[in-house]
Amino acid sequence: MLGEQEAREAIVAAGRRLYERRILASIEGNMSIRLDGDRILATPSGINKGFMSAGDLVVTDLDGNPEGGGRPSSEMLMHLAIYRQRDDLRAIVHAHPTVATGYAVAGRNLPAAVLAEIVTTLGCIPIARYGTPSTDELAAAVVGPIRNYDALLLANHGALTAGGSMEQAEERMYQLEHFAEVSLVAELLGGPKAFSIEEVERLSVLREKAGGRPVPPACYPVDTNEETITLTKDELIALVADAVRTLR
Ligand code: 13P
Ligand code: ZN
Repeated sequence: MLGEQEAREAIVAAGRRLYERRILASIEGNMSIRLDGDRILATPSGINKGFMSAGDLVVTDLDGNPEGGGRPSSEMLMHLAIYRQRDDLRAIVHAHPTVATGYAVAGRNLPAAVLAEIVTTLGCIPIARYGTPSTDELAAAVVGPIRNYDALLLANHGALTAGGSMEQAEERMYQLEHFAEVSLVAELLGGPKAFSIEEVERLSVLREKAGGRPVPPACYPVDTNEETITLTKDELIALVADAVRTLR
């Protein structure tokens, strides 16, 4: 585990790189590292994270209360909720990179099961439902998806990645934005084409051999061999109403 000073330097360096690569703009985004059992080192709120000094960062407890002075990120509730969920995650990057945020704003899912590098590492990338920034609502929205995924889109907001170190969380943010760019280009060229289920199974084996968890079921392509049925809107409403009546 990093000492506090090393962790401060790691966040400052990551902030500089993320800003230079245009992943962070203006005063957007935030980062944190879990220092030890109950201390979190976080970026300060409302400043450009590309130009921080080690002394600007703020240490908080697990409730987000700052140790000394300073105002930690307004998104501490989200960061803390993630650390509470997963012990293996030691660092978080939240940013609003252009293409990934475009997908999040459009409410469009990034395609699942289209690139081996994504399937064998991130699996796929879900969208967490919208929550007002800085509130419990946003923290609650990420808690479910972060159990199974290391990279998320945040609806109408941006993106979030986490990892075992700041470098890993940072790399995952580049990977997420790169994948969003590839997906957008694929959209322009006629739409991404998904792998077969069998190929995702093979990739899942590779992922497990490399020490990862199996590919989550939601990252598999839709089974096109399954019989599909088509309903009109009225038929669907009648069906749902019927099911609700039966369950009452
Ligand atoms: P902070 O500067 O308070 O961390 O906020 C930036 C942000 O991206 C809010 O969602
Ligand atoms: Zn944000």
